[in-house]
Amino acid sequence: MRVLITGGAGFVGSHLTDALLARGDQVVVLDDLSTGRHDNIRDHIGDHNFEFIMGSILNEALVDDAVRRVDVVLHLAAAVGVELIVGRPLESLATNIRGSEIVLEKCHKYGRKVLVTSTSEIYGKNDSDLLSEEDDRILGSPLKTRWSYSEAKAIEEVLAYSYWKEKGLPAVIVRLFNTVGPRQVGHYGMVIPRFVEQGLKGQPITVYGDGTQRRCFCHVADVVQALLGLMDSREAEGQVFNVGSQEEISIADLAVRVTERLGSGSPIVKVSYDDAYEEGFEDMPRRVPNTARVKDLIGWAPTRNLNQIIADVAADISTR
Ligand code: UDP
Repeated sequence: MRVLITGGAGFVGSHLTDALLARGDQVVVLDDLSTGRHDNIRDHIGDHNFEFIMGSILNEALVDDAVRRVDVVLHLAAAVGVELIVGRPLESLATNIRGSEIVLEKCHKYGRKVLVTSTSEIYGKNDSDLLSEEDDRILGSPLKTRWSYSEAKAIEEVLAYSYWKEKGLPAVIVRLFNTVGPRQVGHYGMVIPRFVEQGLKGQPITVYGDGTQRRCFCHVADVVQALLGLMDSREAEGQVFNVGSQEEISIADLAVRVTERLGSGSPIVKVSYDDAYEEGFEDMPRRVPNTARVKDLIGWAPTRNLNQIIADVAADISTR
């Protein structure tokens, strides 16, 4: 199979690239290297099954040509990370809304199956026990920039779903919950690479807010298996799936865990949300996915725990 991965030089995209090439597929990566890194795909340059196109999903002609030449599209290109969204909202909205629309238009034009990666941010402040795919979204004011990411990804979801429903485009939607692992970088705000890097360097570990907010972190290698399984499944078309771990931890406890696992003497400090992001920033108190749907369809469940994640991220950061 010939697969186009938009955002294939990014954190999740590059792991997907590795996995697809390893199983014998051909991979075309389209990436503008805005947050993706050439280093992530460097090992494949020169491989006759691999092609790298440097460019944006906002470039219609480029997307048209890339989609035309493949069988399946995995759409991962996006502006991600709360810091980036809050810092550059207009650019983020254009990439996430118009960029996704262009990718879907071209998939429809050439009749290519597409998997779009959405996010747990979709659920906003809904912190109910286990978030299921049909649960309500609870969002703050659209003028709080944080929520613009949720809005943009919701539009992407409804576009993909409508192309499936109205026009029969084979489309699968996946909502990723806090995916972490090697190659993720901390400068867009992601907590695990930040804490691990701070811990390795003996710098203060920065817990935002009071640290009672809770998350479940899923290893990217597990996420890749879910994405491949869903991409390969006919039954997944027209559906949305949560993908994530259910091993829940507060951010304050995560800071302690990171220092313990690394044997780090880093102090743990609290930073207010206003200082960390912007005035009036609203965080999600808790986010735990119900993953019964993906488990029932393809038998997927995560296999790596938080301690393995911390060890893998530490090994990666140490060798950068
Ligand atoms: N966070 C933190 N310190 C940091 C970076 C993030 O305490 O240096 C917090 C952040 O406010 C959030 C949680 O860690 O409550 C997870 O943040 P991340 O950006 O990794 O993912 P999110 O769940 O916000 O999408």
